[in-house]
Amino acid sequence: MIYPSILSTIGKTPVVKINNLAPDGINLYVKAEYFNPASSVKDRLAFSIIDEAEKQGVLKPGQTVVEATSGNTGIGLAFVCAAKNYPCVITMPESASIERRKMMRFLGAKVIITPASEAGSGAYKKAKELADQNGWFYARQFENEANANIHESTTGQEIVSDFNELGLDYWVSGYGTGGTFAGVSRVLREFMPETKLIMAEPDVAPLVAKGKSQERTDDGAPALSHPDWNPHPIQGWTTDFIPLVLQEAIDKEFIDEIIPVAGSNGIKWSQKLAAEEGILTGISGGSTFAVAMEVANKAPKGSTILCMLADTAERYLSSLLFEDILPDMNDEELTILNSTPSYKN
Ligand code: PMP
Repeated sequence: MIYPSILSTIGKTPVVKINNLAPDGINLYVKAEYFNPASSVKDRLAFSIIDEAEKQGVLKPGQTVVEATSGNTGIGLAFVCAAKNYPCVITMPESASIERRKMMRFLGAKVIITPASEAGSGAYKKAKELADQNGWFYARQFENEANANIHESTTGQEIVSDFNELGLDYWVSGYGTGGTFAGVSRVLREFMPETKLIMAEPDVAPLVAKGKSQERTDDGAPALSHPDWNPHPIQGWTTDFIPLVLQEAIDKEFIDEIIPVAGSNGIKWSQKLAAEEGILTGISGGSTFAVAMEVANKAPKGSTILCMLADTAERYLSSLLFEDILPDMNDEELTILNSTPSYKN
C-alpha cells in the first residue's frame, strides 16, 4: 500500500489474540498501539492537536509547538512537527526514560528537562511559561478537546468495527491524559452499552479510585498537585493531577470498575507478553494487561476482553523493564557457547 505521507499511516492498529497466557475459555485480545508510526497511541493525539489547530487558524506556518509530556506525546508531536515542518519544544520531568529524550531530539525537537521532584506539574508550568513568553502554540494535551475527540473518531470506531460480530464484554485501559479512556468510552457507551469499561490505575496513586476532586484554574488546568498521588514506575500513566480530559470519564460515569495495579506486576506481565506471546509492550501495557488478566480470571467462560497496549517495550531499554536483561552471556548461554569445538577454552 502506498501512502501520501507518514502521517497517513496513523491508526487502524491491529487487535491480536492472546493464545498462551489467556485463561481457558476466555477470549483475550490486545490492541497494539505500538503499530503506530512513532510506536505509541500518542501519534493519534499529536496529529489531532496539530490538525485541529491548523484548521482553527491558531497554529501558523513555522510557529513553534510546545508541550509538557512524560514522553510518548513528545515523540508523537516531534514526529508530526517533523513531517509538517514546525519547530517543536518539549518539557519533561527528568524521571522519564533516556530513550524518549533521545528519540525527540532525533526527530528534530528540543527537550527541556524539569526536576523530577516537581513531577508532571513542573514540566507543565515550564511549557506554559515558554508559550506565554514566546507566543508559541501550547498543545495542552491535558485539556485539549482534540485529544479525546480523535479517540472517539478513530480508536473507538476501530474497536466497535472489529468487535461488531464477536461482541465485547470488557474493555480495559489505563490513563495518562485520559484521552484514550474518555474518547473510546463515548463510542462504546453509545454502540456497545453492555461492554464493561475497566480502568487500571497505579496502586500507589489512586487519584480516581479515592474520588477526591481536583482543584483547577479557570482554564481547567490543575491548580495543585493531587493529594493521593505518589511516584510510580508506570511511565505515561497517572501524573500528579486529574486531567480535565479524564474528568469527562468521571463526570459521565464511564468507569464501571477501577482496578489498582502495582508497577512491579505490570513489569512482570510486560516481560511475559514478550517472552510468551511475542508481543512487545511497555510498562503501561504490561500494567493494563495485568488488570486484564485479573478481569479474565474472574469473568464467566466465553467472555471477550480487549486490553489496550499504549506503546512498545523498545522505549524502555534503560528502564526497570530491562533491568534483568543483561548484555553479557549468562551461564546457560556460556554452556551453549562452549558446547562445540571451535569455542572450547
Ligand atoms: N501509556 C503510555 C506509555 C503513555 O505514554 C500514555 C499517554 N501519556 C498512556 C498510556 C495513556 O494514554 P492517554 O493519555 O490517552 O490516557
